[in-house]
Amino acid sequence: MKAIFLEKHGGNEVLSYGDRPDPSPKPGEVLVRLEAAALNRLDVFVRNGIPGVPVRFPHVPGADGAGVVEAVGEGVKGLAPGSRVVLQPGISCGRCEFCQSGDSSLCVDFGILGEHRSGTLAEKVAVPVENVFPAPANLSVEEAAAFPLAALTAWRMLITRARLRAGETVLIHGIGGGVSTFALQIAKLAGAPLVIVTTAGAEKAKKAKELGADVVLDYKEVDVGKKVREITARRGVDVVVDSVGGGAWRTSLTAAAKKGRIVTCGATAGPNPEEEIRIIFWKQLDILGSTMGTNGEFRALLAAVGAGKIRPVVDAVFPLAEARKAYERLEGGAGMGKVVLKI
Ligand SMILES: [Zn+2]
Repeated sequence: MKAIFLEKHGGNEVLSYGDRPDPSPKPGEVLVRLEAAALNRLDVFVRNGIPGVPVRFPHVPGADGAGVVEAVGEGVKGLAPGSRVVLQPGISCGRCEFCQSGDSSLCVDFGILGEHRSGTLAEKVAVPVENVFPAPANLSVEEAAAFPLAALTAWRMLITRARLRAGETVLIHGIGGGVSTFALQIAKLAGAPLVIVTTAGAEKAKKAKELGADVVLDYKEVDVGKKVREITARRGVDVVVDSVGGGAWRTSLTAAAKKGRIVTCGATAGPNPEEEIRIIFWKQLDILGSTMGTNGEFRALLAAVGAGKIRPVVDAVFPLAEARKAYERLEGGAGMGKVVLKI
């Protein structure tokens, strides 16, 4: 099969397009013929090399994919070849205390497709049957590939971890990225009457408005924390979605209301931001971590996507062979939504 693979870590020059052996499904696995895959920031981290997370070279990256069931391994029932499917990219053991209590994203042996095992930037991938779900019929294959990892992450952050309730207000940093564009849609779906988002540039601001943002703040032009307090009559927002870290973290603390919740899933701008413990205790804030999501959350997300309530935003589509251009597009940060590879 054709695939994108790396034989060492580095920049885009380590991404090769070429032949890799076809995977074959082990017992309990499904072989999927991929038609589209989508990039996540995770793929850039895997390409660069993540300290403490060794990969076996040659390694095929890619966590998000959609396609058609080609074959099933021993013991797999109820999935006929030819079925259109999407992949839930979180791999869990099914046996540990967290898996058994239904919280598989806390699995002690948690892994992600394309990070801890061969991924979706390929014509075929073999995955555990637990990770295979019917593709929503209302989506193109590009859209189907574009939502699983980012939308699932945003869903767990807002619905499960922050327990966002109708009527509460939300701040989302860095609209444009996958998680934040889905978080915006999920926050509106959950009944948030005021969702403030931050971005840079007029074009992204316009698109954020189209996606339902009530207020768009350009973080290069205004002091976001101050502005949020102004807009909310000095109260602040109930929930802050922070996938950025770095300089945005201090803003999150300022923008949160008393008893507010700040939920973090990443630190693209830096993992060790300036902290202010006095704000945390004085406002009695909850700081919540979140990673990926469970199959139960994925099912709830699929229902919302299938009902047309959440629409994956596709920024650009490249052929698989041009994966380097796709990585460039993602890393350039100019786009809004997901960068997809057509396979
Ligand atoms: Zn487990």
